[in-house]
Amino acid sequence: MPIYLDNAATTQVCPQAAQAAYQAMTEGFGNPSSGYALGQAAAARVKEHRETVARCLGCLPEELTFISCGTEGDNWSIRSAVEYGKRKGKHIITTAIEHAAVLEPMKDLERQGYEVTYLKPDRTGHISIDALTAALRPDTILVSMMLVNNELGTILPVAEAARAIKAAGSPALLHCDAVQGFLKVPFTPKELGVDLLTVSGHKIHAPKGIGAQYIRKGLNLKPLLLGGGQESGLRSGTEPTAQIAALAAACGAWQEEYREKITQIRRYALEVLRQVPGLEVISPGDAPHICAVSLPGYPSEMLVRDLSDMGICVSSGSACHKGKPSHVFAALGLPKRTLMGVLRVSFSAENTREDVDILAEGLTSITKNRIAMR
Ligand code: PLP
Repeated sequence: MPIYLDNAATTQVCPQAAQAAYQAMTEGFGNPSSGYALGQAAAARVKEHRETVARCLGCLPEELTFISCGTEGDNWSIRSAVEYGKRKGKHIITTAIEHAAVLEPMKDLERQGYEVTYLKPDRTGHISIDALTAALRPDTILVSMMLVNNELGTILPVAEAARAIKAAGSPALLHCDAVQGFLKVPFTPKELGVDLLTVSGHKIHAPKGIGAQYIRKGLNLKPLLLGGGQESGLRSGTEPTAQIAALAAACGAWQEEYREKITQIRRYALEVLRQVPGLEVISPGDAPHICAVSLPGYPSEMLVRDLSDMGICVSSGSACHKGKPSHVFAALGLPKRTLMGVLRVSFSAENTREDVDILAEGLTSITKNRIAMR
């Protein structure tokens, strides 16, 4: 097994989730829409799993729709919120450091004539609520703000954004991409004051192919998929019972003390990585599990490859932007040499201090054996 320090990209499926998926795929394979006992048992389990995920998220089970991934939830939230508000205006606010799953639908909307304001981060990767307040207009119909940035680990002021929208008397709906925040930072959609919120299973030790979409009770949005009427008619399609079972099992297996454990590992990593010659900390991270560093003059892609040869997995930024400089680090206004050498290191409760020591040794050996570019 490699030393896996890229838990913001994806996580290893936990045994409880794998076991639950196996059970649902074998004995429990019925279609929840079937009227006989095998199908009805599957339907009852989906109901239970929805309750488990809702408990973890702090919302009502009927406010949750199972979806295939974070990208699906982000796209659906944005498109349906815009459809909902189309008579009220054509202005949207988001941040320049959102994931591509938010930014690409925004670009698409711009092509359709919507106006999008991108709030810029400061040099530490934080978004100012004053900038949001100033950007709000009577025709703003949607604000989409992530909870935890996937490359920097910074926490964005989502609850403050909800208060600002309310104070301005704006009709805007508030969507939050909480893919990196789910379980890692404590929140409920109600506390945040959001209308829509998206989470993804594979970031929390469930398999890929499952996520959950929160839609505030009373908000009637257009369905994502039409068909057999599953998921209260919002997302038709036979329920992926194995993935749903695994998501609920991963939620159930999460322990509150993991947050502190992961925080301690990240703090230790920052301490140890600072000893690597030339290394700069770009973002120490507010969330427990993500920090970003740079080895100026050493291209990230090369660092990732060299570390991979040593059996260490870290990321050069968002796994969804292979090869290209990340828009998130670019938005911080970093000098070019620093920008080209960025690495994201992200942790799970499985990581140890030894993993971090091996990473630091690996990076130190690269600085000794390779010449930095000017
Ligand atoms: N939003 C954020 C902040 C992410 O980090 C990711 C994945 O990296 C996504 C959305 C997309 O989630 P998924 O991979 O489940 O589509």
